[in-house]
Amino acid sequence: MSREDYEVVIGLEVHAELSTKTKIFCSCPTEFGGEPNTHCCPVCMAMPGALPVLNEKVVEYAVRAGLATNCSIASKSKNDRKNYYYPDLPKSYQISQADMPLCMDGHIEIKLENGEEKIIGIERIHIEEDAGKLNHNEFSSGSLVDLNRAGVPLIETVSKPDLRSAKEAELYLRKIKSIFEYIEVSDCKMQEGSFRADVNVSVMKKGSSKFGTRTEMKNMNSFRAITRAIEYEANRQIEVLEQGGVIHQTTLRWDELQGRTYSMRDKENAQDYRYFPEPDLGQICLSEEYIENIRKSLPELPESRKARYMNDFKLSEKDSNMITSSKFLSDFFEKAEKTCKNAKAVANWISSDIAKIVNEKEIEFEQISFSPESLAELISLIDKGTISSSIAKKVLEEMFETNESPKTIIEKNGWVQISDEGAIKEVVLKILENNPQSVADFKAGKERAMKFLLGQAMKETKGKANPQMLNKMFAEEIGKM
Ligand code: ADP
Ligand code: ZN
Ligand code: MG
Repeated sequence: MSREDYEVVIGLEVHAELSTKTKIFCSCPTEFGGEPNTHCCPVCMAMPGALPVLNEKVVEYAVRAGLATNCSIASKSKNDRKNYYYPDLPKSYQISQADMPLCMDGHIEIKLENGEEKIIGIERIHIEEDAGKLNHNEFSSGSLVDLNRAGVPLIETVSKPDLRSAKEAELYLRKIKSIFEYIEVSDCKMQEGSFRADVNVSVMKKGSSKFGTRTEMKNMNSFRAITRAIEYEANRQIEVLEQGGVIHQTTLRWDELQGRTYSMRDKENAQDYRYFPEPDLGQICLSEEYIENIRKSLPELPESRKARYMNDFKLSEKDSNMITSSKFLSDFFEKAEKTCKNAKAVANWISSDIAKIVNEKEIEFEQISFSPESLAELISLIDKGTISSSIAKKVLEEMFETNESPKTIIEKNGWVQISDEGAIKEVVLKILENNPQSVADFKAGKERAMKFLLGQAMKETKGKANPQMLNKMFAEEIGKM
């Protein structure tokens, strides 16, 4: 048997830090970074006797996430203690949700590379608190604990084991990330750890209906690492099975540099956590009306924006997909469109010239320093004939570098298109006078001679002459000769 005889099964547990102003059970700020242990208080530092109070915004954000992923929202849910010991979790338990999560039975759609839509089930979304961080100090022999992150609210989104390849896992993660960005529940900054996934992988013989035993890789925060780790782990499991071995349910660590997984510990069972209802918090009871109000306040999601771009602006499906894949880009597009009212041009600039420069610079669209209004200004200047589109490309390059407005860049470089009739006439007369042979050739029916004359005029004006006016003026003046 070979790799082709097996099917990979993947389920993801995504942790997203919510962008509420304050923590889940106290009023400390959730802001990333800061001097160690400056964003904490007796509650999130787990001082004995300190009591948690549930932040209502956390519930609201989690309900938003649940509704945006087609979950049903529980009218009654509760918090539970999940007991475990870690040096960065001074309470020795995490307040999470066990058997009564806030959101259940959802799904999202992903678009596969072959164009097919696939529905991926979501088992649940629950709320919980993040742990602190250990800073391993190279110079002293110990580690230092920073509790700024302790108590930052998280939602954990648990997928059904519906994913069948590393690529599907990546598409699912990107979709969840973009939904959370659109509904503004999390900034989803993977490099800051505010969007990370536990990756569960198993393999089974093709056609089988019985899943294999899974292994789990925790806290992964890059798409590249996740896809590589899934490929590696699936191949490793297949090899073990092919040699007659068995897979044990374990937690693994992915080593990005070496490109392999290591066993960290045997998987603990739910019993080991000794979950019990959090005695310091009451049940979470939500009215129909509360849930409906949140549903009504949900912003427009990527699918709907995409449809609107294709219908209202007549953009291609490809451009609409590309622009709506990121909330940043989609907002950028809309703001620019609003200002210059030329949707097609905005989409073109984004998907061709801007995308090209972003690629070359190896940056993300989010890092573009100029505003959508500046792009709109650039487009309006072309539409008004102030600059030609080839000059506009040069202006765009400078916009990436200098942050100045297109107008400033154009003035500074003297790039304004010459559309003054007198000035154009002057140039045309000069070129005609200097090139009598070409004029004669043109009159004798040689079309190419006109090309040459136009080229000379463009050279004379450093590409700034308005081409339509130039054409017309040459025709007029030659006609008089
Ligand atoms: P735990 O907290 O013990 O990891 P959860 O129920 O929170 O358990 O998450 C289990 C995750 O593992 C889910 O995303 C689920 O889809 C996935 N999963 C379950 N069984 C398998 C399997 N056989 N192969 C791959 N993934 C699996
Ligand atoms: Zn606190
Ligand atoms: Mg898990």
